[in-house]
Amino acid sequence: MKTSLLALAALSLATPAFAQTAREQAETARQSDEWAWDFVEGITTEVGPRQAGTEAETRGRQWAVRWLTANGFANVSDEPFEMQTWVRGSEQAYVTAPYAQPLRITALGNSASTGPDGLEAEVVYFPTYADLEAAAPGSLTGKIVFISHDMRPTQDGSGYGFAGPARWTGAGLAASKGAVATVIRSVGTENHRTPHTGGTSFAEGQQPTPAGALSNPDADNLERMFARSSDTPIRMRLVMTPRNVGTTTSGNVVGEIVGRDPSLPPVLLACHLDSWDLGTGAVDDGAGCGIVAAAAKHVAEIGQPLRTIRVLFAGAEETGLWGSRAYAAAHADEPMYVGIESDFGADRIWRLDTNFTGSEAALYRELANAVATFGVAPGGEVATGGADLNIVREQGGALVDLQQDGTRYFDLHHTPDDTLDKIDPMQLRQNVAVYTAVVNVLANRAEPIALPMATEATSE
Ligand SMILES: [Zn+2]
Repeated sequence: MKTSLLALAALSLATPAFAQTAREQAETARQSDEWAWDFVEGITTEVGPRQAGTEAETRGRQWAVRWLTANGFANVSDEPFEMQTWVRGSEQAYVTAPYAQPLRITALGNSASTGPDGLEAEVVYFPTYADLEAAAPGSLTGKIVFISHDMRPTQDGSGYGFAGPARWTGAGLAASKGAVATVIRSVGTENHRTPHTGGTSFAEGQQPTPAGALSNPDADNLERMFARSSDTPIRMRLVMTPRNVGTTTSGNVVGEIVGRDPSLPPVLLACHLDSWDLGTGAVDDGAGCGIVAAAAKHVAEIGQPLRTIRVLFAGAEETGLWGSRAYAAAHADEPMYVGIESDFGADRIWRLDTNFTGSEAALYRELANAVATFGVAPGGEVATGGADLNIVREQGGALVDLQQDGTRYFDLHHTPDDTLDKIDPMQLRQNVAVYTAVVNVLANRAEPIALPMATEATSE
């Protein structure tokens, strides 16, 4: 570790003159970028929530097309695709016995409706997802399942992988054992009375059931009821009336900084333009689109890059990666040079990961050197790309992950609290500076990026 850090330090003394200019430019971005803020302030103020497949998302795409055009991007377009759209209705939860009181709940994406009259049933408590997995088939017939699998903040966001299954597949699992509805503890790390929405999925051919997330304080309250009420059944009434509105049109918005040699595969910078409906989609993912677009502009300011830089503002990420799949299908024959995504809020980047760290050691060192000045640590060969980079993954292409600090992210994720005031302008600028530095290196590199052979990667 020490040796490689010293090697990086030595390399920085030998930085060529052109990169010096680029570093200064990235430093300028860190100190003064206003473009990322302009984007996220603008879209959250003038459009607000942009739920996939709805009229609000359409307005978001139109806004983004205007913004890209006004900011000098070429070949700006909105590439339509069709999707299945789910929208929220009313949503209420009440404990009816033995400690009658209302709880704060929000429906999960793909939840079925209870109908306007709601449903009432006994609640069965599962502290963890594994406890629900262990429940016998048929044992939950007629019951409302409560999964209280809780999440803790982590810098790398790994707590989401730990707690996420309760939301992603908990309702389907409960329904397969007979449950009539499922409520989960919010997959979130704060203790505000703001439930976290997000998609849940049911197995192919399975009939969806009503599914909602309680705010963390309400989940705590329900746990306390179970702690003192072992004999008296706890009953809950749910009224949730979301509905499927069928096939609607979404779209992927793209724009380019055209390179000196447009025949070379482009650098693809991705984010998603849609958001959940509860907040205004500031950290998820207005910030990400602002960051990648601002970085592309800063690289263009340094000088026209060799390769084209394409920004992909994907549509309909939140409700099932519709945009990522549509883009990969529509552009399958168009090779990408490298894919980089920003979709983890706006807090500072702390680590550089790629999927070519070993196979392109000199390039990796150059990138690590370019971002070290912004406090970004070298990482490893673990980049897998963001959700909107299906096209690069399917091509087996190069990926860079610029890991953001996720400690705060799941306080806000998919809640009414995902609003502009949560973005720290200084940290947003650090993101822009790091993307600028990385994209400047990659967009000016002629050689292909060699990836490790799968066998070599696994033999280590
Ligand atoms: Zn997102």
